[in-house]
Amino acid sequence: MEKTLVILKPCTVQRGLIGEIVSRFEKKGLRLAGMKMTWLTDEILSEHYAHLKEKPFFQRIKDAMSVCPVIVCCWEGVGAIQVVRTLAGATNGRNAAPGTIRGDYSMSVQENIVHASDSPETAAMELKRFFNDTEIYDYKLNNLLSLYAND
Ligand code: GDP
Ligand code: MG
Repeated sequence: MEKTLVILKPCTVQRGLIGEIVSRFEKKGLRLAGMKMTWLTDEILSEHYAHLKEKPFFQRIKDAMSVCPVIVCCWEGVGAIQVVRTLAGATNGRNAAPGTIRGDYSMSVQENIVHASDSPETAAMELKRFFNDTEIYDYKLNNLLSLYAND
């Protein structure tokens, strides 16, 4: 089992899509291990987007990520990190395939609905960045056999 971080971005909150996007991950069969609303600061966003700090849009994405609170989620499942990236789709919503979250709900490269961790290393780091240990719950889903058979 893997855990991964998803952030429902301010555009998602503003457009009233929280439930719809959470529902996508739930219906896929991922287990919601943690979830909270939080208002991201410039400091935490500078850390989170450090890989983009030389880009001309660095300040713009940090501003966009702090116009209102976001929803941070920890989703768990077999191969969850890649599964969630696949569900999210390509970064630019205009290029993202129909059926993906960004493909279905976004017309923008910046306002692209969700953040999703891109590797086991970033997932571990990002979950630590946004959650305390006590906010991640290790209950079991009672339908694992229906979800995974004996994979
Ligand atoms: P992701 O992993 O698919 O989210 O993409 P990246 O890690 O490369 O970029 C992080 C976030 O920065 C993206 O989700 C977008 O919101 C934003 N972003 C990426 N490229 C651009 C760009 O060219 N212009 C703007 N305005 N935002 C961008
Ligand atoms: Mg990324």
